[in-house]
Amino acid sequence: MTARSNRFDCIVVGGGMLGMLTARGLKNAGLDVVILERGDPGRESSWAGGGILSPLIPWRYPDAISELVVWSQRYYPRLVEELLHDTGIDAEWVQSGMLLLNMKIDPDIRQWADKYTSVLETVPPAWVRESDPEIVQPREDSILLPEVAQIRNPLLCTALAQALHKQGIEFLEQTEVTGLDIASGRIQGVQTSKGGYHADRVVIASGAWSSRVMQLAGLDLAVEPVRGQMIMFETRPGLLRHITLHEDYYLIPRQNGLVLIGSTLEYTGFNKETTPEARQLLIERATSLAPVLADYEVIRHWAGLRPGTSDGIPFIGKHPGIDGLYVNAGHFRNGVVMAPASAQLLVDIMLERDSFTAIQPYSL
Ligand SMILES: Cc1cc2nc3c(=O)[nH]c(=O)nc-3n(C[C@H](O)[C@H](O)[C@H](O)COP(=O)(O)OP(=O)(O)OC[C@H]3O[C@@H](n4cnc5c(N)ncnc54)[C@H](O)[C@@H]3O)c2cc1C
Repeated sequence: MTARSNRFDCIVVGGGMLGMLTARGLKNAGLDVVILERGDPGRESSWAGGGILSPLIPWRYPDAISELVVWSQRYYPRLVEELLHDTGIDAEWVQSGMLLLNMKIDPDIRQWADKYTSVLETVPPAWVRESDPEIVQPREDSILLPEVAQIRNPLLCTALAQALHKQGIEFLEQTEVTGLDIASGRIQGVQTSKGGYHADRVVIASGAWSSRVMQLAGLDLAVEPVRGQMIMFETRPGLLRHITLHEDYYLIPRQNGLVLIGSTLEYTGFNKETTPEARQLLIERATSLAPVLADYEVIRHWAGLRPGTSDGIPFIGKHPGIDGLYVNAGHFRNGVVMAPASAQLLVDIMLERDSFTAIQPYSL
């Protein structure tokens, strides 16, 4: 920063989906915000994810997650529309529906669906044969969630970064935060690879690296990296229809014929490399779920680091011991879907406004 001061109302550390959406909310509330990003915008977990706008088996998650998921699911079409308007980039929100093979709706699942007004239905094997003929025949009934949507998260990240620039948010790329300036129990700013930045409010939204950033000031945060690998087949549009889950692995058909298969769950520290073993496993899972995929080529294989927490509930709120320090991190397997709600909640907390849900479950 030369032409202008390096003082802001708020610093956001991390330019993934959580950082970008939080910055957007703060700017809309009239704050002068800067995002400090170590690499390029949205190129880490937010890029690597599958873009399913639902947890894989949504009723198995605590209410604290469902609250954020449902809020975001309602908001997503508007977000994608606004970004299209602002940038011309369509993140392709598509309500492709999600099929969970060989599962039955029981009273607990029905109760969850009623509580969150989620539409789900039982479909027999013949229905799957008719609607998705290339999917392996389920032995039993399956559950269809017809309203579940997907987005292309790399497009969403690109659109978000462009929209933020247009909104006048400073987005400093290739700028790594290397220290937190704290004095007398108050945050005062951060140190970076490119000098110091000052603000009375700092948000840590550094995904899987959030605990490392907190450790710069000797603070603890129980977020750890969990590697996920995925592969992508190039097929023809319409070959597969629904997001389909079977025995912990899923496929996501994009409109243009690309099919993503995921994903592994590996505790390998900050190692983001792909492995031949995972590639082989994912190909086996893919072809046992949709045998026709054996006829198509795998054109990509990648890995990302999820910001893991013990129960999947993110930390959203202020640090109990340091005034002005906030966290929005730890969204684990569901950060793409939870991001809009999570950003809204943190902005409401920072501005001391009422919000759409209780803040206690997410407190640090
Ligand atoms: C294989 C895979 C599949 C997934 N599928 C889905 C899915 O289908 N649906 C879903 O909802 N979620 C999914 N997820 C989870 C989701 O992608 C994440 O929860 C979410 O993207 C986390 O966003 P984030 O902004 O917190 O982290 P990130 O996107 O990782 O962003 C954190 C940013 O902080 C930056 N940073 C770190 N340290 C510093 C520093 N010191 N200084 C400056 N910047 C720093 C990083 O460079 C990074 O850009 C998936 C994840 C993976 C890996």
